[in-house]
Amino acid sequence: MTRDELFTLLAGLRQARVAGKRAPHKPLLLLWLFGQFAATGSSAASYQQAEAPVSQLINDFGPPVASVVASRQRAAMPFVHLERELWDLRDADGIPIGSDVPERRPQLLGRGAVGRLRAPVEHLLADPGVMAAAARLLLEQHFTPILAELICAEVGLDMADLDLAGSVWKGGLDRSKLRRRGFAEEVLRAYAYRCAMCGFDGALGRHPVAIEAAHVRWHSQDGPDEVTNALALCALHHALFDLGVLGITEDRLILVSELYVAKSPAGQAVDALAGKPLLAPRPRHSPVDVVHVSWHHAQVFKHYHLGAV
Ligand SMILES: [Zn+2]
Repeated sequence: MTRDELFTLLAGLRQARVAGKRAPHKPLLLLWLFGQFAATGSSAASYQQAEAPVSQLINDFGPPVASVVASRQRAAMPFVHLERELWDLRDADGIPIGSDVPERRPQLLGRGAVGRLRAPVEHLLADPGVMAAAARLLLEQHFTPILAELICAEVGLDMADLDLAGSVWKGGLDRSKLRRRGFAEEVLRAYAYRCAMCGFDGALGRHPVAIEAAHVRWHSQDGPDEVTNALALCALHHALFDLGVLGITEDRLILVSELYVAKSPAGQAVDALAGKPLLAPRPRHSPVDVVHVSWHHAQVFKHYHLGAV
């Protein structure tokens, strides 16, 4: 396997989209395996070891799931279905497990399933430049820059190393995936350099600070670089919006996830946003489009688990 073959496989992971929901399960399993490999020199992991941390990653950075039971075994899907060109999955006796077994915890635990990235993949990832480029590819294709940073911290990958690796592989970079120049400035101007949620408009001298253009439907998920798919948000509310702590209703009122908790007055100030209207953009700019609001609501906002225990 060559580097380019590895990158092509990573860029083309098959995703079973259930009801049109984004499915970052495989990228998150891979990023967790990369972290394991970087730390220990081996990517071998039993399902028992991987279940809790990988399910947690999918719960934190994937779309919401309907039940608590399902949330605890979300690692099973990518563990079973990760492409066999990359992944070797065997039972306790060393017999290969195919991708046709049920993607369920009892089957995987019962058979003592152990997975490992194939030797040629590990061999390539032993080069820090390849590892960094592979991780960047997955992060850019499936998440937002803010989430990329949080995921790296969670799986133990060094973000600074990844930044240095930018030039290693550009083969799969689709030009249309690059952000449109001037997009951020246009969004910030449309909102007069104020956070659309809290009104923050801090500046250092004449320069606005900690105010950012946030996509509503993510750029990596085909969200257009248009003011109607964006909000100016302060750095805090941008991060909480990408994480799904904050959401928006179709009437453009602010939602706060029931899963959010805070004890301090500063933390609780987020709760106080619930039900408030978004700041409207300046005249001649259209407000955020309901189509994109619905996408964020279904794919990102952290809904309360029905029947949670
Ligand atoms: Zn704000």
